[in-house]
Amino acid sequence: YQSKLPNLGTTIFTVMSALAAKHNAINLSQGFPDFESDPKLIDLVAKAMQSGYNQYAPMAGILELREAIANKFDLLYQSTYHPETEITITAGATQAISCIISAFVRRNDEVIIFRPAYDCYEPFIELNGGKTIGIQLQSPHYTVNWQTVKQHINPRTKMIIVNTPQNPSGSVFSKNDMLQLQELTKDTDIIVLSDEVYEHIIFDGEQHQSACLFPDLKSRSFVVASFGKTFHNTGWKVGYCCAPRELMAEFRKVHQFNVFCVNHPVQKGLAAYLKEPSHYLELSQFYQDKRDYFLERIASSRFKFEPSKGTYFQVLDYSEITQENDVEFAKRLTIESGLASIPLSVFNTNNLDNHVLRFCFAKSNSTLQQAADILNTL
Ligand code: PMP
Ligand code: GLN
Repeated sequence: YQSKLPNLGTTIFTVMSALAAKHNAINLSQGFPDFESDPKLIDLVAKAMQSGYNQYAPMAGILELREAIANKFDLLYQSTYHPETEITITAGATQAISCIISAFVRRNDEVIIFRPAYDCYEPFIELNGGKTIGIQLQSPHYTVNWQTVKQHINPRTKMIIVNTPQNPSGSVFSKNDMLQLQELTKDTDIIVLSDEVYEHIIFDGEQHQSACLFPDLKSRSFVVASFGKTFHNTGWKVGYCCAPRELMAEFRKVHQFNVFCVNHPVQKGLAAYLKEPSHYLELSQFYQDKRDYFLERIASSRFKFEPSKGTYFQVLDYSEITQENDVEFAKRLTIESGLASIPLSVFNTNNLDNHVLRFCFAKSNSTLQQAADILNTL
C-alpha cells in the first residue's frame, strides 16, 4: 500500500514516555500530571455512572455541560456562545482539531502554523491534502513577526492555527498579537483555529487573550479547549470547541460521523464541577508555584531559561553543557541520568535545533526536586 503520511513516525510523546519507562527515568517528557484529579470530581463521575448515564450522549454533548461552558465564557470573557448551536463537546482537544481541519481544509489549501508547534496539527492538514506553512517564532521569547505572517497570506490561505499559552515554548500572545491577527484576517475567508487548551494556566498576572475577546476575530474563529489540562485528567479525553453558528454547523457535519458523541458520565460529572469557578480560577497560581519551585531549584545549574509565561512546560537551553543535538541529548539524559524531556527540534521546520529541551512541571514537588537534583549535576 501507499502510505498517506510517508514521512511520519511515532509521536515523540510515545517515544519519550516509552524510553522513560524502559529506563525507569523521571518522566517530565509527555505533558500530564503525576497527581490525581479532585476526588469530588471523580465522585461526580462515579455517581453519574451509578445513576445510569452510561449510554450515548447527545451528538453535540449534554446541554447541561454546554450551558456551564457558556456561563464560563460569559463570566471570564463577557463573550456569548449559544449552548445549542455554538458549543460542541469533543473527545479531547485533539478530536476538535481533527474535525475542524477536516471540515474546512481542501486539497492545496494553505494552513499557517507557528513553529515550534504542537505535533498534531500538521498530520491532519496533510491527510486533508492541505499544505502546512510553518512560520518560525522568533528567539529568544518565541514571538510572532506579523509582517512575516502578512507576507505568507494569499488567496490559498484557508486557516491560521494559533496556540496561546503555547506548547512547547510556554510563551503567550499579547493583546497586540491578537489585534494583529484580527487585522490580518479581517475581510478574508480565513478561519482561525485558536488552540486555548492552557487558557487557565497563565502566570505573573497576565490575562489570557482568548480569540473570543475580539469580535471580528471571534466571527471567524474556533476556540478549542481541553478539560484534561484544567482538571488533571488527561486520560479522560474530554474537551470542547466553540464557534459562531455557521462554522459550528459545518464542524458538526464531520463530528457526527467522526465520533458521534463522547463519554457520557464524564460529561455529567464535569457539568456539575464546572459550575464552581474556583475549580479553574485557582489553576494559574497552582502551576505558577510549581514553575517557581522547579526554577528556584535549578537557578544555579548550567541551563539557561526565561520563566515560562503559561502552560505546564518549561524550556531549558543546554548549550553551555554540550553541543550534541537535542534528540541525542534528550535520549542520553533519559538513559544515563534518569530524566526524560522533549527535544524541541521535533516541533520545528527542518528539525531546527537550538539546543533546547522541554520539561513538564505538572508534577509533585518531590518529583520536581528529584529532577532538579539531576539537572544540577550536568
Ligand atoms: N493542543 C495542545 C497545545 C496540547 O498541548 C494538547 C495536549 N497535549 C492538545 C491540544 C490535545 O489535548 P487533548 O489531550 O485534550 O486532546
Ligand atoms: N499534550 C501533551 C504534551 O504536549 C501530550 C499529548 C500526547 O501525548 N499526545 O506533552
